[in-house]
Amino acid sequence: MDPIRGLHHVTAVASDPQRNVDFYRNVLGQRLVKRTVNFDSPDTYHFYFADEVGNPGSVLTFFAWPNMRRGVRGNGETNVVAYNVPVDSFPFWQERLKQNGIKTEAIDTRFGQNVLAFSDPDGMGVELVEVESLPAIHHWEEGPIPEAYALHGFHSITLWLEEVESTSALLTEGMGYQFAGAEENRHRFKSDRHALGHIVDLIHRPGKMQAGFGVGSIHHIAFRVANDEEQLTYQSMLSEAGFRVSPVMDRSYFHSIYFREQGGVLFEIATDTPGFLIDEPKTSLGESLKLPAWVEPQRAEIEASLLPLTLNPIKKASLS
Ligand code: ZN
Repeated sequence: MDPIRGLHHVTAVASDPQRNVDFYRNVLGQRLVKRTVNFDSPDTYHFYFADEVGNPGSVLTFFAWPNMRRGVRGNGETNVVAYNVPVDSFPFWQERLKQNGIKTEAIDTRFGQNVLAFSDPDGMGVELVEVESLPAIHHWEEGPIPEAYALHGFHSITLWLEEVESTSALLTEGMGYQFAGAEENRHRFKSDRHALGHIVDLIHRPGKMQAGFGVGSIHHIAFRVANDEEQLTYQSMLSEAGFRVSPVMDRSYFHSIYFREQGGVLFEIATDTPGFLIDEPKTSLGESLKLPAWVEPQRAEIEASLLPLTLNPIKKASLS
């Protein structure tokens, strides 16, 4: 069985769809590569933000659920998504986030790398990590951020757990990750197959509060396999190990299986194929509402039920 190739995507919950798009697209400079609906609840948006083409390992997706209660961070959930940024880009980001009403934490250092943490407008934990050798992505040239400061795909995700043994065993024995060290209660695991999103941090928080799911919560994290065949190998391995694994689901842009790991966090394993260029050209990704064929007959009702959304003009940030 091939080891997991790092993260494929991370999916979280936003409230106001317009504010979500304005923040990730116009402030953080992630391209909206797909505008679709939640296939299980097609009257709500599902947005995909990523690099220019939607490379696996750069894809942050949101369900926009305006009426949901706010989530509370705690054990049993993924609580932070971290992006790679170039070294010396923090002054730019501190100023840009401040100008957009986002308060940043003091700069921290972990495993020798500088970390800038903040919460997005819905309260989700985001970190920027200065990385010496940045992984290759497709920089969004039309976006607001010069490449010298731009987000370069995922660095890591951070899970908060009551106990870390079972999750670390799953990562190392089942998914091809290696233990890479610990700092205080943070246990780091790396997949050396791929540089993008190849780090998983587990924070050991015995006796601390459980998470309350809602707006600002991370719904699930998706790990990456190359194709359907590898996915089926994982499906049978996980079933044999006692996990309740879902059937393969067709998510249009990838195929997915889901299971809850023992720490309570929802994991997905997603294929690289077919990708985000399957139903629209690279030049116009994200500009119009895309629906899978089986939802297309309801397009008129769906469009009428969705909140209006504007792609606001991109203002280029200047190099200082
Ligand atoms: Zn997913």
